[in-house]
Formats: sequence, structure tokens, C-alpha cells
Amino acid sequence: MKPVDWEAERKSMVAHQLQRRGILDPAVLAVMGRMPRELFVPERHRALAYQDAPVSIGFDQTISQPYMTAFMSQALELTGHERVLDVGAGSGYHAAVLGALAARVYAIELIPELAAEAEWNLHQAGAGGNIAVIRGDGSRGYPEAMPYDAISVAAGAPEIPSALVDQLGDAGRLVIPVGAREEQDLLLVTKKDGKTTTRKVALCRFVPLRGREGWRD
Ligand code: SAH
Repeated sequence: MKPVDWEAERKSMVAHQLQRRGILDPAVLAVMGRMPRELFVPERHRALAYQDAPVSIGFDQTISQPYMTAFMSQALELTGHERVLDVGAGSGYHAAVLGALAARVYAIELIPELAAEAEWNLHQAGAGGNIAVIRGDGSRGYPEAMPYDAISVAAGAPEIPSALVDQLGDAGRLVIPVGAREEQDLLLVTKKDGKTTTRKVALCRFVPLRGREGWRD
């Protein structure tokens, strides 16, 4: 069998799934154009690494659709200097993208096996240098490293967890899916002089956020 040309797959994903749908931030496009997403997808699903949909990573969880990772990353308007909290590290792919766009990333994951997987994937991709993978409940944020310039949440919450807003610094941005279990609004929360503004930026479908400020069962 001919080996897959991952670079060609990646370039095609960037052109067709991202640029064509309005992802214009050159840094986001460049990073997703070089990050080896195939290393963040389980071996048995590797052929699906660049498909236009989420892919199973085990434990009933998924690596998000590339477009969603790009959209959320672009919404955070990162310039390279930020301290970022990534809630729901999963495969580690979004953390890797955020790590290449910001100064420091804390990626928190509730399922210990996935946290270990994320660490391994980041190492394999050579992307973990400025990323700490934390095991724990990210619905409470990660107060040890606050304040954050940006927070990205990759699981749907019933409401905006207050801890996350509290842990945002001044001019901080939070992207989070909020709503019903099956479908959520992607909200962009910005903090300025202690006041927050919330804007709906997309409709989305994420796995449920668990933990203290997540879904209970
Ligand atoms: N960003 C991931 C997508 C992961 S899917 C990627 O790029 O692959 C969402 C992840 O959120 C799952 O791994 C799930 O276990 C995790 N999760 C759900 N509730 C959580 C919580 N309260 N704290 C930390 N992680 C949580």
C-alpha cells in the first residue's frame, strides 16, 4: 500500500475546511498546516485524521473537528504572549495548536488515561515544550496557574462555570460551548475592567463537560 502523504492531507484540510469557511488568522492557518494531527488520533483511526468531523479517541470522547479547533483558536486572538488554559485536553491536539500560538498552555483532563495519551502525543509531535498536562476537574479551572489571558473549553457545559470567569485576567477571553447536552451555543466571554461581555459565536455539538460545574450523571 502506498504510504499516506500526510502533508498533502493537511494542506487540503487547511484549504477546504478552514480557509474556504472563513478561518483567516494566518497564525492559526500556519500552525494547523504543520501540526501532525495524525499523531493525535488513535492508530486504528489514523486514516480519518484529516476528515471534516470529530474522531473517536476512546472513553466515549472525540478529537474535535479541525474546523472547530481552528474557529475556537481564532476567536481567542492569540499573539504569542499569552498564558492559556485548555479544559478537556483529550488527545492533546488543541493544546498543541494553542501551544504554538501562545506562550504557555495548561491543558487539564479529567480521564487519567487520556491525560497520559495527550502527554505521549504531544511528545511524539515534538509540541509539548510549553504545555503542562494536568489531571483533574477543569470545570473548576486550574487556580494554581491563574490568571489566564485565554481559556478554551472543549466540552459542553450546562452553564458558564464561574471559576473559569474568575480565573480570567483583565482583557481575558473564554470560549466555551454552553447549552443542552446534544447541542450548544459556542460563547465568547471577554473580561474588561472586571466586567464580562458574552457573545454567541457559533452553534456546536460537544461531548458533555463533567465535574463540579458540569453535568452530574
Ligand atoms: N481538545 C480535545 C477534545 C477533547 S473532547 C482534543 O483536541 O482532542 C473533550 C474532553 O473533555 C474529553 O477528553 C473529556 O474527558 C474532557 N472533560 C470532560 N469534562 C472535563 C472536566 N470537568 N475537566 C477536564 N476534562 C474534562
